Amino acid sequence: MSEPRLSMAIPSKGRLREPTWALLEASGVAPQLPGERVLQTYCRNANIDLLFVRADDIPEYVQDGVVDCGVTGLDLVAESGCAVDTLLQLDFGFCALQVAVPLEDGTDSIDGLGGRRVATSHPRIAAAALAARGIEVELITVGGSVEITPRLGLSDAIIDLVSTGSTLRTNGLRSLGTIFESEAAVIGPRLGDVTGDLRTLITMLQAVVEARKSRYLLFNVPANALDDVIAVLPSAGSPSVVQLADQSVVAVQTVVPSSTIWQLLPELELRGASAILTLPIERMVR
Ligand code: AMP
Repeated sequence: MSEPRLSMAIPSKGRLREPTWALLEASGVAPQLPGERVLQTYCRNANIDLLFVRADDIPEYVQDGVVDCGVTGLDLVAESGCAVDTLLQLDFGFCALQVAVPLEDGTDSIDGLGGRRVATSHPRIAAAALAARGIEVELITVGGSVEITPRLGLSDAIIDLVSTGSTLRTNGLRSLGTIFESEAAVIGPRLGDVTGDLRTLITMLQAVVEARKSRYLLFNVPANALDDVIAVLPSAGSPSVVQLADQSVVAVQTVVPSSTIWQLLPELELRGASAILTLPIERMVR
């Protein structure tokens, strides 16, 4: 009998499709591109079947056990109300559910919206967030194009997904604040076992997610400036220090968060470091 295969639902379209596919490729499972309109494929290097499903249907597929796990947005998970667990946050698909009003509206905080009409396509998250603040509004649920509802006279305010804020600005709206932060994640059934192939997959995806957030850093520094340089390194562990043939200089190697590089390199140079190199990391298991 052949071994049972792990099944994973991935977004069939929309902004999460491409980054999800790229992550699977980077993880080494070798997902095989299906023909056009084919909704199922497999991985050459792993015991995994992939199903292309709409991102907003994925929480339900996972909850109902149609698939073993899936990739979708945490906003869609919360909005679905499905009983699933987040197994791994993926560090892409960032967006926030924000409350916004027309520029000319005098309201200056979310708490000032009591009694007004608020349009959203995320009624479950909106209702929970507003109730938690003790604000009662008239919630109007719309399927899309939430941002034009104030101009159409359908609402006084909106609650909608924002990533850069440019759609709000284009539509003459001003944010009053965020009620929910979202990113893409791998989800599994509530209290499900993360063992066997599922555990292997999560470990390999996490290795890529962690690696993308980090850079390998190498540089030389005069031995007498070493302590000074080590003091500014944001590395988690102790750096490797290698004595060079010229005994007055050492080579330092370490891993640092990518987000710190732009500030760190000038600091290192100021403290006497030279031949500074940063390299991408393919995978990282801590
Ligand atoms: P889509 O299929 O393109 O409509 O997007 C599905 C998911 O992408 C959303 O539910 C969010 O989790 C995520 N997303 C990331 N950035 C944005 C954004 N600027 N607007 C809407 N959704 C976003």
